[in-house]
Amino acid sequence: MKYHCPTCGYRSSQDKVTCEECDGFMRYSPPKEVFQAIEEDHSSSVILGSQKVSMGEGNTPLAELNQIISGPEVICKLESLNPTGSFKDRGASAIASVVAQADTRYEAIVVASTGNTATSTAAYAARADIPVILIVPEKTEKSKLTQAARHGATLATVDGDFSNCFTLAQQAAEQNKIINATSVYSANPYVAAANQKVAYELFLQLEKMPDWIVIPVGAGPLLGGIYDGFIELHERNYISSIPRLLAVQASGCQPIIRAIRTNSVVSEWESPIRTDINAIADPLRGYASDGERTRRAVVESGGTGIALDDRVTKRWHRRLADEEGIHVEPASAMAVGAINKCELIGSEDRCVSLLTGHGLKEQVDNKVDTQEVTNVDDIIGNLRI
Ligand SMILES: *Cc1c(COP(=O)(O)O)cnc(C)c1O
Ligand SMILES: [Zn+2]
Repeated sequence: MKYHCPTCGYRSSQDKVTCEECDGFMRYSPPKEVFQAIEEDHSSSVILGSQKVSMGEGNTPLAELNQIISGPEVICKLESLNPTGSFKDRGASAIASVVAQADTRYEAIVVASTGNTATSTAAYAARADIPVILIVPEKTEKSKLTQAARHGATLATVDGDFSNCFTLAQQAAEQNKIINATSVYSANPYVAAANQKVAYELFLQLEKMPDWIVIPVGAGPLLGGIYDGFIELHERNYISSIPRLLAVQASGCQPIIRAIRTNSVVSEWESPIRTDINAIADPLRGYASDGERTRRAVVESGGTGIALDDRVTKRWHRRLADEEGIHVEPASAMAVGAINKCELIGSEDRCVSLLTGHGLKEQVDNKVDTQEVTNVDDIIGNLRI
């Protein structure tokens, strides 16, 4: 009995996305070996049975911030240090492992992506020798496409946004032999399940659970997976309460934050997308219920949502690198900037920020000041030390 419906209690041993009884989203229940491993502090435990296609994803380190946030304690989980530079490797490893199983009906993977899922899926598919088609918006960050192309994937660009790409990926996955690996709950049941491990890792890494977990969201399978992981830990009495979840989106595309703040059901983002933070710009067109699942997790945890203007995001992106030595992509810096803006976070609170992707992936602020030198006097005399 691997999956159950939190709404009506329906159980299934199939890897199902939605409930046959009430159409709600199913939740993955990890096998008992996972919790045995947690008891024994084997932090390398896997959740989806044996992860066949793996290269050391997960078990990412923590780094405390010392300078840029005054008041609350902030601990960063460096998901940027996963094998391809983003947390998407967790889900990609799970999907590639499913397709690599001997008895699977799948022969190929399709994925809609704003860049990072494409790269991760391409890398893990290359390892397992599985064909993969990546569907990305035309304006996707060039360095992410280059990274994906190196793994030999087929790249398809769309003159549109992430939702246009997702619709095409869903249609491609109607072919019996193709699985959709997109980071959206309704695409497949594996990605959010794989992301549960973030919660188990935090449980093993921290002596005391934080008050808040701060997560940038597109549709939100990372947030939803972490929430499910904490629910599983709570139901088994490993933790006495669940941390509050703080979801972050860009002001220029914030369907989930808008719904959290107006206390309404998540609907599609109809306005034009007005943000440069492409990694999380998801208008949810055709699958608003995925965003609603994310909103419900936030509300049930006692959390809230914050939208950040790009100008503010870019400032935190710079400060994280300049003052803390942590170079992440702009979407990830939002997980720190949101703490500064969230009035519900008290000065005594402890926060964990998910730094979802590496700074090398995006060319932001690529103006570099250099000084030419020819001898050592230039270096000692002219450079500020
Ligand atoms: C995909 C992504 C997110 C958001 O993840 P979802 O759970 O898919 O909504 C956040 N940050 C970065 C850098 C990402 O690539
Ligand atoms: Zn149900």
